[in-house]
Amino acid sequence: MERNKSKQLFERALQLMPGGVNSPVRAFKSVGGEPVFMSRGAGSKLYDADGNEYIDYIGSWGPHLFGHNPDFIKTALLRALENGVSFGAPTELEVKMAELICDLVPSIEMVRMVNSGTEATMSAVRLARGYTGRDKFIKFEGCYHGHGDSFLIKAGSGALTFGVPTSPGVTAANAADTLIADYNNIESVQKLIDANKGEIAAIIVEPIAGNMGVIPGTDEFLSGLREICDQEGIVLIFDEVMSGFRVAQGGAQEVLGVTPDLTTFGKIIGGGLPVGAFGGKREIMQRISPEGDVYQAGTLSGNPLAMSAGIATLEHIKNNPDIYIQLEQKASYLEKGFESNMKALGLSLSMNRIGAMQCLFFTEEPVNNFADAIKSDCDKYGKYFREMLARGVYLAPAQFEALFVSTVHSKEDLDKTIAANRAALEIVYG
Ligand SMILES: *Cc1c(COP(=O)(O)O)cnc(C)c1O
Repeated sequence: MERNKSKQLFERALQLMPGGVNSPVRAFKSVGGEPVFMSRGAGSKLYDADGNEYIDYIGSWGPHLFGHNPDFIKTALLRALENGVSFGAPTELEVKMAELICDLVPSIEMVRMVNSGTEATMSAVRLARGYTGRDKFIKFEGCYHGHGDSFLIKAGSGALTFGVPTSPGVTAANAADTLIADYNNIESVQKLIDANKGEIAAIIVEPIAGNMGVIPGTDEFLSGLREICDQEGIVLIFDEVMSGFRVAQGGAQEVLGVTPDLTTFGKIIGGGLPVGAFGGKREIMQRISPEGDVYQAGTLSGNPLAMSAGIATLEHIKNNPDIYIQLEQKASYLEKGFESNMKALGLSLSMNRIGAMQCLFFTEEPVNNFADAIKSDCDKYGKYFREMLARGVYLAPAQFEALFVSTVHSKEDLDKTIAANRAALEIVYG
């Protein structure tokens, strides 16, 4: 596969943008090789600057539930373009968007639109702090909530009382208010609560973790969080930026049967445009400015183009509830194909999947939390990734990401991918 144009573009990009990219994982640093510059997406396929075709399982990191550039989103965008792209004043589109979200996700009584998942989680935690009058919050090791300062904290040995900054630029003061617990481990949460009585505003969690590979939250864990939050007057925030509208109309909270106080969204709700949202209980949401005193604003929030793509997406979801059956079938077909390949090769790598969120971990041990996930052999994943890419399959360029099928992945796509998986695993473990 020739990628001369990608190579040239990357050389130019490196002079102009840190790492040649606008978001780090795109740079292929953890898998080796050079990033592929894409020029077109259609259905399940991506086409690079040199004209090579790939079956895409990233889907722009989640948004493309219906594949690239579906007609109903394109039509909605063209219609919106006719009327102008931004007014900085309320529109009917925003009302429709809010109605759709509140309709599809029962726990959402009021919602605020923002421009990214990062904005949604930052604002939701600020709201929880304003509402409770407390400063600290709990997050889980390996969960990703965007790049807001207070989320870029990893557990250190002193995690029980003080977080340790992961990224330079995050202040110690910021880190001190972020407490880190272990995913799928309710005792680790209880310990933090006991050591910080009456000081914790929120617990924020990916109910299905998708940013340390895919790890579903257990029933015991999530209902345990609900119970603790009720007892302690803590706001429970589900970060469904990835799982929202991907695993079910009502997101992970519908599938797993635990209801949060606030939920954050992004990715799918923008139909590929920059959109995020947070919402939940009316009593809490009413504290948001201008109804309440917790400030939150955005020049382009609720932008007509973004709302049009979002509405088209959510209406399509609402009118076609059977897509989640299709997604389950396709994702399970892929999983079974990978499983039989591994069986034939005498391998038993861990695979986690819930609906159309799945991950092949390069470890044979079960993966239920961050400590398990990092047992994966990332060098082997890198090699696997490069072999898949060479066979026209575009996977996430890092082990700790999700694989997404869309509704438009065909049986032929899936069979090709399963064959590529077999060949790639043979080379990696050969
Ligand atoms: C992607 C993601 C975010 C961040 O969203 P951006 O739009 O990239 O800012 C937050 N939380 C989760 C769970 C995500 O997957």
